[in-house]
Amino acid sequence: MHDPASSRFGDSCLSPEPPAVHAKVLRDELVSAAEWVAQYLNELPQGPVSRPLPPQERSLLREGRLRQRGGEFDSVLDFVRNEIAPYPTGNGHPAFFAWINSPPAPAGIIAELLACAINATCGMGESALMDLERGTVRMLADLAGLPDGAGGVLTSGGSMANLLALATARTWFLTRRGSGTGPDFDRDHARLTLYYSAQAHMSVAKAAACIGLPAHRLRPVATDTHDRLDPAALRAAVTADLDEGLLPFCTVTTLGTTATGAVDPLEPATDLCRSVGMWHHADGAWGGLGAGVPALAPRYAGVGGVDSLTVDPHKTLSVPVGCGALLVPNPEHLHTAFAHQASYLTAGEPDALQWLSHATIELTRPGTRALGLWATLHHLGRDGVTGLIEHYLALADRLRERITAEPRLQLLAGGPWPVACFRITDPDGGDPDALHTRIARRVQDNRRAYLATVAVHDRTVLRAALCNYRTTTDDLELLIREVLHAADAEQSAAGTDQPPQHR
Ligand SMILES: *Cc1c(COP(=O)(O)O)cnc(C)c1O
Repeated sequence: MHDPASSRFGDSCLSPEPPAVHAKVLRDELVSAAEWVAQYLNELPQGPVSRPLPPQERSLLREGRLRQRGGEFDSVLDFVRNEIAPYPTGNGHPAFFAWINSPPAPAGIIAELLACAINATCGMGESALMDLERGTVRMLADLAGLPDGAGGVLTSGGSMANLLALATARTWFLTRRGSGTGPDFDRDHARLTLYYSAQAHMSVAKAAACIGLPAHRLRPVATDTHDRLDPAALRAAVTADLDEGLLPFCTVTTLGTTATGAVDPLEPATDLCRSVGMWHHADGAWGGLGAGVPALAPRYAGVGGVDSLTVDPHKTLSVPVGCGALLVPNPEHLHTAFAHQASYLTAGEPDALQWLSHATIELTRPGTRALGLWATLHHLGRDGVTGLIEHYLALADRLRERITAEPRLQLLAGGPWPVACFRITDPDGGDPDALHTRIARRVQDNRRAYLATVAVHDRTVLRAALCNYRTTTDDLELLIREVLHAADAEQSAAGTDQPPQHR
C-alpha cells in the first residue's frame, strides 16, 4: 500500500515514488513477513517434502516481463507465500536426505534480515561488519584447527572458495619461480598440473578450468577402498609429471567427500607438497570443521599444515545459504593473489590495502554472510558446534544400523561424515543402476521423504546425507519405509508375481 503522499519524502522529494515507503508501512509489512516466516518454518515438517512447480507457473516465473507501473508494496509477501514457498526443493524439511543442503539456523535468519537493513558492503571502506567478518573467519579457523594468525575471507559458498584457493596457489607457485609475470609466465603456466582425488567435488575441476588449466593438466588420483586419496598413487602421479618436465603446483585433498563422506589423509599430502614445492589445499566444504569433534579428530591430525582450507558454514552449521569461507594460515597469500589498486577506491584511506576486496575476487560483498555466520556461531557456541556435528554422526550411525538390520537393504560405503550409501539387496533381473534411479525418483515423487542417488565405484546407489538439525529418528524410519515401498512398487511394475514383502 504505497502512498507517496504520506511518505517521509512526500512533500520535498522530486520523485516521491518507489522504492521509498512510509515508515509505518514498512514496519507493518516487516511484522507480517516475520509472522509468516515463523509460521512457515513451524509448519514445514507437516507439509510434503517437495512439490514440483506446475509447468504453467514455471513459465510465468521465467517469462520475465516487467510491468510498466510499479506494484503494491505488500504484494512481495503475497508473491512469496503463493508463488514460491509452496514449491520447495525439499531442503529445510526434516525428511530431506539428498545432497548436503541444510535448513537455515534461526539465529541466521534474524541476522540476515538485520544485516540487509544495514546493507554494509564488506569490500571497500571499513565497517563494523568487515571487522566482524575478520573475527568470524578467525572463529572458523580456530574450529578447523588452523594455527593462530590464520585468516581468510567469506565467500558465497564452497565452489567460490575452491576457486580462490586455486588462483592463490597458482600465484604463489609462479611467483616463487619468478614467473608470476613476465616472459616466463606463458611457458610455466602451460605446464602447471593439479592433483585431487577421484572423489573430489566437481567444483575443483571447474575452478581449474576457470583459472585456465586445460583438462589434460588435471590429475584425478585413485582412491583406496574407503574412498580416500591414495598417497602412493598421488606420489607416483606427481613423480611421473616431474619426470615429464611438468610443474605440479597444487594438491587438493577432500575432508568429507560429497558421495561417501570420506576424509583424505592429510599428513602424507602435506609432506609430499612440502618436498616438491606444491600448495596443499583441503576442500572441507562439508567436513572442514571435524578437528574439534573427538570422534573425528584423529583423522584431522596435521590439518594445521595445509596452505588453505575451504569450509561451508551453509552446509555444516546451517548458516543461511550464501556462506562459505576460504581459510589460510598465512593471509598474505590472498593479498598477493588478489590485491589490485584503483584510483577511485583508495583516496584518503590509509588502510585501503587491508580491505577485504584485496583478499578475494568480489568488490561489493554482503554483510549478511558475516552477521548470519556470527549469529549462528554465537547461538551455538563451541559446544554447540561439536554437539551439532555429533548429532549428525549419531543419526548416521542409527541409519546405518537400520539399513544393516533390514534384509532387503545392503549398506555400502559411508563415513566418517554422516552419510549412508545403500542398495536393494536382491534387485532381481534388469539393470540395477536404473532400478535404483527409479526407486529414488519414486521416493521423491511420493513427497514424504527425499533422497538422491550417487555413483560409488561405478554403481548407482541410494544416498542419504544427514545435515538437518530437525531430522529425528522417526524421519529415518520414514525414509526406510519409503525406500522399501518404492522398491515394492518397482517390483510390481516389473510384473513379478511376488507379493510386496513390506507394508
Ligand atoms: C558442496 C561442496 C562443494 C561446493 O560448495 P557450494 O557451497 O555448493 O558451492 C565443494 N566441495 C565439497 C566437498 C562439497 O561437498
